[in-house]
Amino acid sequence: MSQPQIFRTVADMRAAVALWRGQGDKIALIPTMGALHAGHLSLVKFARENGFVRAIVTIFVNPTQFAANEDFGAYPRTFAADVDKLASIGVDGCFAPPPEEMYPPGFCTKVAPGGPALAGLEDRFRPDHFAGVAQVVAKLLNQAQADAACFGEKDFQQLAVIRRMARDLDIPTQIFGVPTMREADGLAMSSRNVYLSAEERRQAVLLSQVLQETAKAMRAGEDIPGLCAAAAQKIGAGGFALDYFEARHAESLAPVAALADGPIRLLVAARLGRTRLIDNLAV
Ligand code: AMP
Repeated sequence: MSQPQIFRTVADMRAAVALWRGQGDKIALIPTMGALHAGHLSLVKFARENGFVRAIVTIFVNPTQFAANEDFGAYPRTFAADVDKLASIGVDGCFAPPPEEMYPPGFCTKVAPGGPALAGLEDRFRPDHFAGVAQVVAKLLNQAQADAACFGEKDFQQLAVIRRMARDLDIPTQIFGVPTMREADGLAMSSRNVYLSAEERRQAVLLSQVLQETAKAMRAGEDIPGLCAAAAQKIGAGGFALDYFEARHAESLAPVAALADGPIRLLVAARLGRTRLIDNLAV
C-alpha cells in the first residue's frame, strides 16, 4: 500500500505532473467529490488499462454546483477513508484543495454550457447545476494539465456536457466515459446511496430493473413513448417521486421517437424519500 501524495495547491499538483511527464509517464485525472466507492475506483482502473500509468484523483465538494436547497452541507465527507481506498489501489496523487484555492477572493468567472446542458433532463430540476460542474471541471482540467480525464457514464448528461465543453474551449485533455459500476442487485453505486434507509435501499433496485426491462422491450421494437410512460408508472408505483424517464439520442441527448433515431440511451431521475437517484442505460 503506497500512500498517494496529497496536493493542497495547484502549484504542488502541477509540479508532480511535470515530474511524471518528464519521466515519460501518461497522466489521468479523475475528478470526484469524495465519499469514494468502487465506482470511483473503477475510473482509476480504466485509466490504468488505457495506458495512463499515473492517476490523480481530485476530491472537492464543489459548492457552485449545488443549489441552496440541495445537500451541499450534508454531502458525505470521508477524507481519511477515501485516502485509504486510494492507497489500496496505488493511486499516485490526490488533489484536495481548500475552497479558497479553487475560489479565491475576487473569483467571478462563470462558464455557461449550452447544448447537452440544456437537454431538458437534469437541467429542468437543477437549473444552475451544469454551470457549476462546467466551471469546476474546466478549472480542474486546466489546473492539472493531465493527458486524460475520466468521468462516469453514471452521470450521463454531465459526461456529454464535459465532452462538449472540452471540445468547444479547446481543452487538450482527452475525455473518457467509463461504464457504471453497480451493486450486486443492479443499483448504480453513488455516494448518495448512504442516505437511503434499509427499506429505501430495498426499493431502490427498481430503477435499474425498469431500465433493463424497458431497454429490452425497446430493442424488440415496442413503441417508445408507450414504454417510457409505462416505466414512469412502474417507478411511481414503487414508491418513487419521478422527475423524468426519457429515451434520448446517446450523443446529442435529443428526444427520439423510433429505434432508427438511435443509438438510444434511457435516462431516469427519481426521488426516494429525501434521496434523489439518477441512472441510465444503453438501449
Ligand atoms: P461524484 O463524486 O459523484 O461527483 O463522481 C465522480 C466521478 O465518478 C464522476 O465522473 C461520476 O460519473 C463517477 N461515478 C460516480 N458513480 C459511479 C459509478 N457507479 N460507476 C462509475 N462511475 C461513477
